[in-house]
Amino acid sequence: MPIKQMFKRTSGWLYLNSPVGRRHLRGAGVILMLHRVLADDRAAELPHRNELCVGPQAFEQLLRWLKQHFDCVPLMDLLQGNSLRHGSARPKVALTFDDGWRDNAVNAFPLLQQYQVPASIFLSTDFIGSRQRFWWESLGETLWGSYGEEARARLLEHLKKIGRPLPSAYHIADREKSRSLALAHYLQSLKSLPAHVLGSLTDRCPEESLPQALDWQQVQALEASGLIGFGPHGASHAILTGLDDYRLEQELSRSHEALAAGCRTPLPVYCYPNGDHDLRVRQRLASHRYPYALGTLAGIYRGNDDPLALPRIGVSQRNASRPSLLAWRISRGGRA
Ligand SMILES: [Zn+2]
Repeated sequence: MPIKQMFKRTSGWLYLNSPVGRRHLRGAGVILMLHRVLADDRAAELPHRNELCVGPQAFEQLLRWLKQHFDCVPLMDLLQGNSLRHGSARPKVALTFDDGWRDNAVNAFPLLQQYQVPASIFLSTDFIGSRQRFWWESLGETLWGSYGEEARARLLEHLKKIGRPLPSAYHIADREKSRSLALAHYLQSLKSLPAHVLGSLTDRCPEESLPQALDWQQVQALEASGLIGFGPHGASHAILTGLDDYRLEQELSRSHEALAAGCRTPLPVYCYPNGDHDLRVRQRLASHRYPYALGTLAGIYRGNDDPLALPRIGVSQRNASRPSLLAWRISRGGRA
């Protein structure tokens, strides 16, 4: 094991198992951020998937570990302070999932149910019940070759034509991991492209047999279980800070109305796509009467944070399968 990783894992373990660390977390809460739970751990391990995906074994290990060290509570209990003020002295944790992936129902929910861990899912509402696709997933998997060599070659050719060729590191790397890492960096660089360009690139990718996102029946069934709550994560997943006033208003009201129509009790919590927000976005959100909103900055929740810029800790395949690394991340977030 590399020394740096050993240091992180040891510090993480100590943080949760020493009086100093426990004192630091007393009365605090941790909001974890996840996205997808795939059917296969090996697939989730590749760098271009690692940050946004976990496999079933890593997810189960994470749930077991959380139950050992934390009280797993619904997000609203944590935010409204009920469980911070009362209950046991153990730190609290609430799970959140972004986007609304179908695999949340298929792969994550059975395990959440088995371990009785509540979670909140934040939906990009245009995708729910439609075949609309998330660009990073479609482009990433087409370029990885998951839909065959022909589709990959066609997309590579087109990206070259529009002046966004894949870096040579992707082509020359002979190890699977290095190629995947080059792809991860490349996908990150595409985030700056306008939404319509990303949309038309996605249209060039092959369709999967099943939609990527949940449908409303699945949403309703999960909500009826009493274990899962739902909130909005934009409508089209557009980055809110980049929208003019009119489009910002459209995104907020469309996502709000879809949740109101599709769920029994939507959460009064907004989740910013990509975590991006600024003063104007927060003010518009407040006028829509959202008392809480989740960002992506790392930190732990102490009840005195800006309620419209709440910190979270990201869960990846790497730290879910080695929870002492996650504890290290929590300890760093706690100091931020
Ligand atoms: Zn998202």
